[in-house]
Order: sequence, then structure tokens, then C-alpha cells
Amino acid sequence: MQLPDPRLLDELRAAAGADAVLSREEELFVYECDALTHHTGRPAAVVLPHSSDEVVAIVRACARAGVPFVARGAGTGLSGGAVALGGGVVIECARMNRVLEIDPVDRVAVVQPGVVNADLSKAAAADGLFFAPDPSSQQACTVGGNVAENSGGPHTLKYGSTTGHVLALELVLADGERLRLGSRAGGDPGYDLVGAVVGSEGTLGVVTEATVRLTPLPEAVETLLAVFPDVVSACRAVAAVIRSGLVPAALEIVDQRTIAAVEASVYAAGLPLDAGAVLIAELDGAAVALARQVERVRALASSSGASRVEVARDAAERQRFWRARKGAFGAMGRMAPDLYVHDAVVPRSKLPEVLEEICAIGDRYGLKLSNVFHAGDGNLHPNISFDRRDADEMKRVLAAGAEILALCVRAGGVISGEHGIGTEKQDFMPLLFTPDDLDAMRRLRAAFDPGRRCNPGKVFPTTRFCVESNPKARGYERVSFDA
Ligand SMILES: Cc1cc2nc3c(=O)[nH]c(=O)nc-3n(C[C@H](O)[C@H](O)[C@H](O)COP(=O)(O)OP(=O)(O)OC[C@H]3O[C@@H](n4cnc5c(N)ncnc54)[C@H](O)[C@@H]3O)c2cc1C
Repeated sequence: MQLPDPRLLDELRAAAGADAVLSREEELFVYECDALTHHTGRPAAVVLPHSSDEVVAIVRACARAGVPFVARGAGTGLSGGAVALGGGVVIECARMNRVLEIDPVDRVAVVQPGVVNADLSKAAAADGLFFAPDPSSQQACTVGGNVAENSGGPHTLKYGSTTGHVLALELVLADGERLRLGSRAGGDPGYDLVGAVVGSEGTLGVVTEATVRLTPLPEAVETLLAVFPDVVSACRAVAAVIRSGLVPAALEIVDQRTIAAVEASVYAAGLPLDAGAVLIAELDGAAVALARQVERVRALASSSGASRVEVARDAAERQRFWRARKGAFGAMGRMAPDLYVHDAVVPRSKLPEVLEEICAIGDRYGLKLSNVFHAGDGNLHPNISFDRRDADEMKRVLAAGAEILALCVRAGGVISGEHGIGTEKQDFMPLLFTPDDLDAMRRLRAAFDPGRRCNPGKVFPTTRFCVESNPKARGYERVSFDA
């Protein structure tokens, strides 16, 4: 794509420095997708600012040229959010990677948006603190991306998703205006504008600074690995643990296909290959309370059908269990060239029946479908391994995905737990929201970005759907294109 205004590249260089602007074909190729590899769009240019001032100058240059832009962190997003559709400028925040302040009394950190999630927790550990949102991509993904996607992770069950950990934001709007939202002290009166920005997928502005809550590291942690004959009995154990009143830090299920992929990969953790599923349960808190809780979880897992329950003896063993879980998506690279990581939520009481139906959908379409998921939150990740060069398989992958989402909504769930909508699910929004709901969201968006130059083409449906009067009812039918 040609830049609409040839002076824009020069203005971008003036804004952020000559070495901060990428515009050659081979450089732009790297930015044509995020981790949803079958949704692509080549940007016209990529700029890597170091500071908020540079972001303001970049955004103003885009405004003068009438060019849209999209903020990007590490590009680990799984819903196509960080892709510049139809050209436009990518504002890559990787160089804005400084932890500006850690205050152990206020228990906050002030960071630039390109700080890597795991690096923030490492920096806070000296003060006995950590940043609780822990996506499985935490070694790479950035705080800016976490804020934009309202990311979760295995420990969301106890600590909540990113929105509960963001106190204040600096946001650069599409016209270059710089806003400060929220306060370090929290509990801001008035409209919750920080809450509006968290999860807005880069459509309201560029987050250039975040003040986030830090959480005390727990005194003790215990991690259990329970082996089950099938996923349904593992789900039964999750229900039993939650019903017992315990509040585990994490309850994660890994199914048989995923175990096979993990054990054949560098993430191998010694999981039993004949298991139908394993449940990783983590408990944290005061050391004195944990021994009893471990025994309760062990008993509940056993009475739900676990053939074996191991308790990690030390930190190395705990990391081994987690390596299997957090490396699962990477390990699936062995199964096929492409992986479609789905993300939907159902009430956890519905997990067994929904999972059974999801597996039946995968079988019906002749697909390799595996499951590794945040069971405690009912947050499913049905993963489809496929080869996008096979057009017929690609069609079946998309059709199965659509059925899975409709199924989850019918079960009382939602179409994304943590990966966002992006371009992946925008046309499924009418499953959850009425036209009036969507108009209200559009008006909120317009208050921040009336010209729709900030990450356009995401979140909102591109297609008009004929949804039955209750959009949660039965599904949808695509009837016409709505530009
Ligand atoms: C292996 C793997 C495991 C994952 N596990 C999890 C998980 O457990 N939980 C989970 O929630 N997600 C998970 N994800 C998805 C992804 O890592 C998260 O969504 C993450 O927060 C994205 O961060 P990022 O820096 O890569 O953002 P990007 O992918 O670069 O961007 C994501 C979105 O954020 C916007 N954005 C980025 N930076 C800014 C900014 N400064 N200002 C405004 N908008 C911005 C972009 O425009 C885009 O819409 C996983 C992904 C992978 C590949």
C-alpha cells in the first residue's frame, strides 16, 4: 500500500528518529499479523517511539495526513487486534519499556506500555510484590497489551483480570491530546474512564503510561497435579473444589491431545501419556493454612475420579507442572503448521456438557481439536490445529469455530474471556449484543475518537446479522455486508 501523503514518513522520522521508522517491504512483513496468523494486513509504516512525547508527535503526523494507526505491544494477541488493516501506521511500543517507579507503600508501579508482563513482576519481587495478571504469554506480552485486552491468566481465578489492577492511565487520543485518567490512590469518583479504556483493544487511544496495582507475594504456594481418566471427571473435581468454599489461585485443565503434544516437545513435564486429562490446582496464602487445603483438594480430586494426585515438592517441581500448562500452545506447533486458539467462557457448572459438545463439533468437521483451559473461570480454549494452505480445512476450521461460539453463548456464556474481539470475533458480537448495545458502544468510542482513526476495523461487526429477537437464542445468519 502507498502512503497517502509522501511527507508522512519524513514527519514520522522527525517525530521519533530516523532509526525508529520501518517502511521496507521485508520490515513490514513482520507486522502483518499477530498470533492469529490467518488474519493479516500489511501496514504502510511502523514507528517505534521511546516516549509519550514521541507518541503525541506520531499521532499528530497521522492526523495531518488523515492516516489511521494502531498501537502494538509484543504482537502476541490472539484476535487480530494489533494488525493495521488496509495500511495505516503501526505504533510499536516495544522501546517504551521502562519501569518508571515501584512504590511498596502505595503498592503501585508506574510503567511505560512496552514493559513485558513478567519483567514487571521480576522488578517488583525485590519489594515482595508482583503484578497479578499472568497471561501464559507473560514472558513476551506487554502491560500495554494486557490493558488493551483486559488480559487474564491462570491466576485470574483468585486475583481477577487486568481491569482490577489498573489504577490510572495516560492516554494519547487520535488528535494528539494527552489525557490522564484515574488516580494512583484508586477509588476515583465519577465515570470510570479507566475501566472504559481497559479492554478497549486500542480503539480509544494509545496507552503511554500505566499505574498498576502490585500485590504482595503469597507467603506459601502449593501446586497439585491430579490425573484423570477423562476431561469430564476433571471438570467434576473443579466443581467440587469451588463448591467446598476453597478459593484456589488456579484450576487449569490440560486434555489428552495437549498432553501428547507437550510431552513430545521441549516443554515435556513427565505428564502421563495415558491420562485423559490433568488438573493443575494451585493454592497460595499463609503457610499455616495451606497443608489442610492441600489435603482437601487431594480428597476432592480423588473422589471425583483422579487416579493419582501429586503435590509439587519444591519450586522446581512446581515450575515443571506449569511448564506443561504455559508451554501448551507452543507445543501444539508440532501438531500442524497453524493453531487457532479459541477463547470463550461458560458458567463452570456447564463445563462438562459444553466440552463434550465442542469435541463432537471438532469430530464432525474432521478437525484436530484439543483443550487446555482456565477451568476454574469456565474460560475455555478449544484449540484447532490445521494447515491454512488447505482451503477446505480452513473453511471447516471457521465453521467449527462459529458453532463453538454459538454453543457457548447458548450455554449462558460469552464469546471471549480474555483474548478480545479484534477482527476475529467482530462478526459474532450480535450473538451477545443488540443493535442498541452496539450503538451505545460506538457512541462511547466516538467520544474518544470521532474520526475512527484509532485502530479502525476492529471489535464492531462488519457484517449485518439477522439475529433472532433474542440474540442469545440460537445463532445468526449473515445477510449482507455493512461497510
Ligand atoms: C502462547 C500464548 C498464550 C497466551 N495466553 C494468554 C492468557 O493466558 N491470557 C490472556 O489474556 N491472553 C493470552 N494470550 C494473548 C495475548 O498474549 C494477550 O492478549 C496480551 O495481553 C497481548 O499483549 P501484547 O503486548 O502482545 O499486545 P498486542 O498483541 O501487540 O496487542 C493486543 C491489542 O492491544 C492493543 N495495544 C497494545 N499496546 C497498546 C497500547 N500501548 N495502547 C493501546 N492499545 C494497545 C493493540 O492495538 C491490540 O488491539 C496468549 C497469547 C499467546 C501467543
